[in-house]
Amino acid sequence: MKLKIKNGTLITPYRYIKNGTLVIEDGKIAGIHQGDIEVPDADIIDAGGKYVAPGFIDLHIHGGGGHDFMDGTVEAFLKIAETHAQYGTTALVPTTLTSEKEDLLITLDNYEKANANNLFGAQFLGMHLEGPYFALSQPGAQDPRYIRNPDPAEYEEVLAYSSSITRWSAAPELPGAIDFGKRLKQKGILAAVAHTDAIYEEVLEAYENGYTLATHLYSAMSGVTRKNAFRYAGTIESAFLLDMDVEIIADGVHLPAPLLKLIYKIKGPDRIALITDAMRAAGMPEGESTLGSLKNGLKVIVEDGVAKLPDRTSFAGSVSTTDRLVRNMVKMADVSLLDSVRMMTATPARIMGVDHKKGTLVAGKDADIIIFDEDINIQMTIVKGKIIYEKHNKNFTATNYES
Ligand SMILES: [Zn+2]
Repeated sequence: MKLKIKNGTLITPYRYIKNGTLVIEDGKIAGIHQGDIEVPDADIIDAGGKYVAPGFIDLHIHGGGGHDFMDGTVEAFLKIAETHAQYGTTALVPTTLTSEKEDLLITLDNYEKANANNLFGAQFLGMHLEGPYFALSQPGAQDPRYIRNPDPAEYEEVLAYSSSITRWSAAPELPGAIDFGKRLKQKGILAAVAHTDAIYEEVLEAYENGYTLATHLYSAMSGVTRKNAFRYAGTIESAFLLDMDVEIIADGVHLPAPLLKLIYKIKGPDRIALITDAMRAAGMPEGESTLGSLKNGLKVIVEDGVAKLPDRTSFAGSVSTTDRLVRNMVKMADVSLLDSVRMMTATPARIMGVDHKKGTLVAGKDADIIIFDEDINIQMTIVKGKIIYEKHNKNFTATNYES
C-alpha cells in the first residue's frame, strides 16, 4: 500500500520543507521530497499547504475521553488511545498511579490485551509506573495510603510479572532507591526521579546509578531548601545542572510562561519532552471527575483547564492534549514551532529509546504522521501508514485509504 501526502510544509522536525511530498509505503516512510513527485499507484492526500509532522509522542499520560488506564478494562486503554490520537498523539506511554499491587497487576494484564487490539488509537510504548516509591512529603495528587519505600520483594514480583514496563518513576532519596535504579537500568527500563525531596547530592548519586529523567519538572519536587543557615540545591536545580532529561506539563497551567521559558533556556529542545500527564477528563467537559481508578480513585474538580484536588491545594493531573502543549510552547513561551514540535516528537522518542523508528520524518521509520494548521489544530492522524483520524475538511481527498 502506498500513500502520497503532497502540498504540505514538512516539519522534519529539524527544518521545514515547503511544498513537500511525503511518501508512505507498507506502513513506513518511503521518502520525503521537495516539490511534487510521481508515485505510481499511490493514494493521494493534498495537505492544502498545512504542516505535515511526525506524530506526537506522550511519555506520561493517565487517561482521557472519560477513561483511566487503571479503570481495570481493556476498553479504557483503547478509548484513551483513540481520544488522544484525535489531538495528534501517535504514541504514548500509559501511566499508573500509586495503588494496591492487585490493581497494578490487573492494569499490566489489560495493557497486553489492549496492545494486541489497538487498531484505531495512538500506539503504546510500554507502561510507566508512577510510584508507589515516593516521598510522603511530596505526594502531589498521589494517594498517600499507597506510598511506600522500595521493596525488592515487591518490585521483583512486578518485574517478573510483566515485560511491558518501560519506565518507572521513584523518589531517589528513599532507602533502597539506588538499588532500585540500578535494577531498572539493568532491565533496560527508564528510571525517573519523581515526587521527591532529594537534594543535589542524592540526585547526583541517583543519576550515577541509572536515573536519567526528571518526571514533570517542578511538580511535586524539591527546589532550594535551607537547613540552619545553609542552602541546599534540590531536584529542580539538579536536573538543570546534570546531563538529565526533563519532562514538563506544558498545559499552560502547571507551569507559567516564565518557567516554561526558563526550562527551555537552560535545557534546550534536545533535553525537554512535553507531556500531558492527562487524567480521564482530557477531551471531556469541565466539572467533577475522578483521578485514578473508578474503584479507588480520588474525587477531583476540573476547572480553569486543569484538574484540582477538591480543597484546591494541588493540581490533580492535567486535562491537556498534545496539540495544546505545542501551541502553548509557541504562544506562551515564544519557542519556535520547529523546536516545539521537536520536544513533542524527536526528543521523547530518544528518551524512550524508540528514536530508531519514531520521532522524525526519515525514510524507513514508522509512518506516524500528523497534519495540522497554523494553530496546531489536528486535521489528520496516521499511525503506521493507516489513517486513524481525519477531521472533515474539503482540502483532503483521500478518505477511502485502508491499510
Ligand atoms: Zn502522572
